Amino acid sequence: MDTPAIHPYGDNFIPVIPIEQETDIRHSGAYPFCTDPSCLCHEDQSLIAPVSSEVADGLLTPSEALRIVKGEMP
Ligand SMILES: [Zn+2]
Repeated sequence: MDTPAIHPYGDNFIPVIPIEQETDIRHSGAYPFCTDPSCLCHEDQSLIAPVSSEVADGLLTPSEALRIVKGEMP
């Protein structure tokens, strides 16, 4: 009685989806900030600048802008 050979699953691994793909989706909303506090989008001046200018134009309050940049608002 031979035990059937156990085949390794190596060939059947589903490729890991690159993280960029997921972050791209999260960064494509009305405001390009995600909810990940460690993500660099929250420090990217080119992303923050449009939000700041909306504050300057009176469209947002500074606290709303802060929440947007933190990714707490869509
Ligand atoms: Zn981000």
